[in-house]
Amino acid sequence: MKKFALAMLLLFSCSAAQADLKLYVFDCGHLAFADISNFGLSNDETEVRELFVPCYLIEHEQGRLLWDAGLPLDSVGPREQGATSWYENSILDQLQTIGLTPADIRFASFSHFHYDHVGAANAFKDSTILIQETELVAAFEHPEENPAFRPPLYNELENSQRIVLDGDHDVFGDGSVMIVSAPGHTPGHQVLSLQLENFGPLILSGDLYHFEATRRLRRTPDFNTDAQQTLESMDKVEALIRETGATFWIEHNLELANSLNLAPAYYD
Ligand SMILES: [Zn+2]
Repeated sequence: MKKFALAMLLLFSCSAAQADLKLYVFDCGHLAFADISNFGLSNDETEVRELFVPCYLIEHEQGRLLWDAGLPLDSVGPREQGATSWYENSILDQLQTIGLTPADIRFASFSHFHYDHVGAANAFKDSTILIQETELVAAFEHPEENPAFRPPLYNELENSQRIVLDGDHDVFGDGSVMIVSAPGHTPGHQVLSLQLENFGPLILSGDLYHFEATRRLRRTPDFNTDAQQTLESMDKVEALIRETGATFWIEHNLELANSLNLAPAYYD
């Protein structure tokens, strides 16, 4: 009897720590490049010329978190011949397929505020926004300094409820969903660390890397705001991966994306 109680206690504490998370992955567009040399690679160092653009939804018993919001909603439509970007089904329509609208999303957070990560941000203005103070300043006070910031995509978040971060942040207070500060690509770039019960620990890269080759070769894109800071963030995240044994998903990796089970399937 005692043994049984102990086993139940262990089982309970184990599942409580992991919080029964669910992770949904959505196709929020594609980007194609003839020349990738501004990503810190020469064109012969990788054959990859197409990037996947994801959105993610994390379900926790205390609420849902949207992580990254894809390409701009006004680019949704059929893929055209020769297009360099395409986005066939909007994140809003895809959420509907699992019975959700933005009103069901408690928190929204973005790895950073480049246009391919906040494309639907305004639709989540009633969520609580989790943002690094440095990104808040960069995106709202001097967006003109970074050509990949497009304020019309996110300016409706200006009056949203928000939690302004200065470093790492435990979203639900139980360690199951951690925002990890990893600046350099932009001033307040961040990655997301998840503790999934069956899948195990998982880290979503943001744009710490765009290609497997930039990870392998430790390269930084020309358009990063701070190359040295990016290398320090790579060291931090790589150490976290080693310490936790986490699976690491480079968000833009199309080959990886093609191997994943997209929503309505989920990881738990
Ligand atoms: Zn990106």
